[in-house]
Amino acid sequence: MDINNADEYFIHTYNRSTVFTKGEDVYLFDDKGNKYLDMGAGIAVSALGYSNEEYKNGLKDQIDKLIHVSNLYYTEPQIKAAKYFTEASGMDKVFFTNSGAEAIEGAIKLARKYAYLKNKDSKGEIIAMNHSFHGRTMGALSVTGTKHYRDPFEPLIGGVSFAEYNDIDSIKALITPDTCAVILETLQGEGGIHPADKEFMTKLRELCTEKDILLILDEIQCGMGRTGKMFAYENYGIKPDIMTSAKALGCGVPIGAFAARKDVADAMCVGDHGSTYGGNPLATAAACKVFEIFKEKDILGHVNEVAPYLKNKLIELQEKYPDIIKDVRGIGLMLGTELSIPAGEIVSEALDNGLVLISAGTNIIRFVPPLIIEKEHIDTAVSILDKIFASK
Ligand SMILES: *Cc1c(COP(=O)(O)O)cnc(C)c1O
Repeated sequence: MDINNADEYFIHTYNRSTVFTKGEDVYLFDDKGNKYLDMGAGIAVSALGYSNEEYKNGLKDQIDKLIHVSNLYYTEPQIKAAKYFTEASGMDKVFFTNSGAEAIEGAIKLARKYAYLKNKDSKGEIIAMNHSFHGRTMGALSVTGTKHYRDPFEPLIGGVSFAEYNDIDSIKALITPDTCAVILETLQGEGGIHPADKEFMTKLRELCTEKDILLILDEIQCGMGRTGKMFAYENYGIKPDIMTSAKALGCGVPIGAFAARKDVADAMCVGDHGSTYGGNPLATAAACKVFEIFKEKDILGHVNEVAPYLKNKLIELQEKYPDIIKDVRGIGLMLGTELSIPAGEIVSEALDNGLVLISAGTNIIRFVPPLIIEKEHIDTAVSILDKIFASK
């Protein structure tokens, strides 16, 4: 395939290189037949890798039955997915979307509606975090804490202010009688793999409860088993009032969700929100299979077994190259190495050496492999990195 002219046809929002044509197990193949070990999983999406037959057959069966019907009707896969999702998340009610950004839009609308029902004059103010990432639609962008993503698209939705992640006092300082929600990632992904501190999360939960401010946790990247718990907030022994999911929820079929505790969810009534595709039978059949396979294969158990192995290997690399690797951090299979050199350079050399990596920010390599990754794959990935760092 000739990719030289491809960008003539695309609105140029990505710098791309390789053409991938096939996936197998935890490997990707390009159009020239080269094999790559995948440590990025399509940005934390393909948790089950590329060869799960039960997942694929589930999709094929659903294609034969019914791909789409409007949300004006019930479907079996959507009912089952809603049951699985609420059981797994500890939330009472869920709405399915097509993407992460849409889940954030729904979460914001729900928080605003809840505040509106309490007080029709509420300004519906939201506190978000610096260095956060919640997606590219106007609402999601409005709570994304990277100025250069937001600035060209102003004016965005109003009433949003930004606090420092892991700094409870900076949140307190922004609270007004009009504050309706605090939104944050349980573990910041795009912003550089920064987990929330336990004490911060506990205090934030208490603060929100005390002031009846809704705590919205974005679990789009860190949820669905990535941290060794089904949702990352379980690591903190707390529950949000509203949460969002996407990425690995469908393991490749586009689906997201926002969910909430009952009295919050009930703020929305018929006509308040909708989506043509959201939670359609094909997408929710995928999510159902994902939940079933997670259980059968004990994916969480597997993450808890291999994740410490990956972290230790990265720490060993750091000890070997202390001038290059400044920090190793993260939870479960959502790890990052902070470098003293541009991550992009390492990511592109890794690709040349058969290893798919993703950066976060300018100097962090993010490790978000398929959750089925084995220790031998980790050894291979680390030895490729070792070779690259040795040449620096
Ligand atoms: C990827 C991501 C989003 C946006 O999801 P899309 O499906 O790309 O719209 C939102 N929040 C977090 C934490 C993400 O990682």
